[in-house]
Amino acid sequence: MFSEINKYLRLDKLPHIWCPGCGDGIVTAAFLRAVKELDLDRNNTVVVSGIGCSSRASTYLDFNTLHSTHGRALTFATGIKLSKPKLKVFVIMGDGDCGAIGGNHLLHAARRNIDLTAIVFNNSIYGMTGGQYSPSTPIEAKATTAPYGNIERAFDLTEIAKTAGATYVGRATTYHSHLITKLIVEGAKNKGFSFIEAVTSCPTYYGRYNKAGSPADMVRWQKDNFIVKKKDNSQKLKEGQFLVGELYKSSAPEYCEQYDKIILSAKQRGE
Ligand code: SF4
Ligand code: MG
Repeated sequence: MFSEINKYLRLDKLPHIWCPGCGDGIVTAAFLRAVKELDLDRNNTVVVSGIGCSSRASTYLDFNTLHSTHGRALTFATGIKLSKPKLKVFVIMGDGDCGAIGGNHLLHAARRNIDLTAIVFNNSIYGMTGGQYSPSTPIEAKATTAPYGNIERAFDLTEIAKTAGATYVGRATTYHSHLITKLIVEGAKNKGFSFIEAVTSCPTYYGRYNKAGSPADMVRWQKDNFIVKKKDNSQKLKEGQFLVGELYKSSAPEYCEQYDKIILSAKQRGE
């Protein structure tokens, strides 16, 4: 198994920069299992990332990769997909990256239903820049920039993606790491914009500021507060609990296909 996964890694870039106990490696491993299951050709697979701890993943992954700028991963990915629609394009972002500076791009990538698979590593904080609160930091949680507790309501990124027009939306946590793989596989098969929220933990900042315990305690918290969605929606959520699983699925015209149709009809008219 290791040698099969190793072929997708730039081993010369290791060791990675992630802190001991960080969940980013778990999400990255889940992504690699999905790539293996999908049997993707590395030469036709692109991974675009933004900036932040999670976005470092693209450095270690041996595909066509682009470590882009903060909040702009979806814009680079849109350009790549539009110019070469046959490529399979994945986008890795953090929660601040995707929900704050890149929030506008999330709305429009979803609205266009462009065939990208976005994976958001949500650790509820800006890790790399020193633990500032992000749009997904829970209310009352502490951060470098919220030493007395965050007063802003948190975004539910999956609801935003769904409302903006994504045609596949799912959520899982590092505790449910095999579910992350499953959602990425299904998201990649969807012809349109797929949004997967992978809830992960940052023991170094979020964990320390919020006295969340050890990295293992943070994963136990995920186990207790993220409830697997049942097919018949019969699960009961308590205050502060969230669903994991396939949250939304629909179909809509895909952006690159629509774009190609416009070009074809203009050519047929001799324009
Ligand atoms: Fe992970 Fe937080 Fe360390 Fe970044 S700062 S590598 S998110 S534990
Ligand atoms: Mg983050």
